[in-house]
Amino acid sequence: MNNILQADFDSIENLLELTKNQGVDFLKTLHERPTSTAKSMEDFRFLPETGLGTKEALADFNERFEPIIMASTGPRYWGFVTGGATPASIVGDWLSGIYDQNSQSVKGDGDVSARIELETIQLLLDLFELPKTYFGGFVTGATMSNFTSLAVARQWVGKQLGKDFAKEGVSEKIHVLTAVPHSSAVKSLAMLGLGSQNFTKIKVLEGNREAMDVQDLAKKLETLNGQPSIVIASGGTVNTVDFDDFVAIAKLKEKYQFWCHIDAAFGGFAVCSPTHKHLLNGWEMADSITVDCHKWLNVPYESAFFLVKEEHRFCQVETFQNSNAPYLGDPLDNFSYLNFLPENSRRLRALPAWFSLMAYGKKGYQDIVENSIKMAQIFGEYLENNAQFELLALTRLNTVCFTLVGEEGQVKVSSFLSKLNATGKVFMTPTMYDGKKGIRAAFVNWQTNEQDIEIVKAEMEKVLAGF
Ligand SMILES: *Cc1c(COP(=O)(O)O)cnc(C)c1O
Repeated sequence: MNNILQADFDSIENLLELTKNQGVDFLKTLHERPTSTAKSMEDFRFLPETGLGTKEALADFNERFEPIIMASTGPRYWGFVTGGATPASIVGDWLSGIYDQNSQSVKGDGDVSARIELETIQLLLDLFELPKTYFGGFVTGATMSNFTSLAVARQWVGKQLGKDFAKEGVSEKIHVLTAVPHSSAVKSLAMLGLGSQNFTKIKVLEGNREAMDVQDLAKKLETLNGQPSIVIASGGTVNTVDFDDFVAIAKLKEKYQFWCHIDAAFGGFAVCSPTHKHLLNGWEMADSITVDCHKWLNVPYESAFFLVKEEHRFCQVETFQNSNAPYLGDPLDNFSYLNFLPENSRRLRALPAWFSLMAYGKKGYQDIVENSIKMAQIFGEYLENNAQFELLALTRLNTVCFTLVGEEGQVKVSSFLSKLNATGKVFMTPTMYDGKKGIRAAFVNWQTNEQDIEIVKAEMEKVLAGF
């Protein structure tokens, strides 16, 4: 064996101890670590001829990279929709690497990793109060979850037309209808050969809303004259966290033939809050659902899952089976994840979620979600009561969308945000809403508390005073 590799393995206990101490250090000081950095990366290293050994590699990492790692997993990173990592999920993530399983198949001879994944999906169905008639699996993020779901939808549309698109290629126009899709759903349409511009836009409801006007949806479905289609609905839009009316969409299913996909990447977690769960009323009518775990479930990247109704099993296998590899077995007879989703070999991606769900249970996630909602409310109230700011949209759940008041505010808002982010005390993202430049703050991190809001308020006032 290579002698450096051997020496590393001989001192594995020491190496893991070093790593643990460094990890603990990072986590305990996370709230002090900056949320942005002005430093840029140095030149790339060349591959060493003889390796450094792990201890030296760690020293190099610590010298060059560690100091500029931002606290994006910390309590005042409010940009995009960025979750943290619960202690249990970190434990699961470490073990996932240590056990290094390939979550492909549930074989009689003891490959337990796919079984853990199947069990984790059951726990998630419990958490989201969804029927056990969904089949699900883990992918790297909501983008891949949208892609996976829409790939099965594409096959389903083909089936209604007497075609097998997976085998023959897409030969017909596939009608897609949606109001305010996430960019990743549109990207999925591009990846699936359906065309990122090839969808019908449904009107949104009047009165500062991003939810689709279901009457307009009905009108547009009617013009399809019975042709099958795909409807992409939102369980939480990114800007204003608006929800489509799933009960009303379900009613249309009685009359029209369409696949309904709901992108509930983070909005699905509203179910965990008794006061907000109504936002998802009727979502169990969906043929497929996307939920992200590396956002509000607070597990490390890369973690998301898709759910597809079990009745679409054939469409799913037709889409993803490894049909020219007989050694992988009959996809329906011998269950293998590799015939149900895009990837073949995968890490034990479900384990961090399994640990976190088992460690904190329903109550733990209710507390996390309700805390985020409360933080959004407190921050929103502060903005409303401050004459310099105005809300751009109602704070429906966990996201606050705001700007500086007036025309002058529109001129200043971008540089205000740059200056604020440069403080390293908080990070928020720019947005456009209702024709106005604005700022988004999304609350999904389990650690954010009222003290954090106070710190951010003080920084915002300092930046304003400096103009
Ligand atoms: C974040 C998000 C996505 C994309 O998720 P990734 O995890 O970045 O792939 C898709 N849809 C919605 C609604 C989102 O919020």
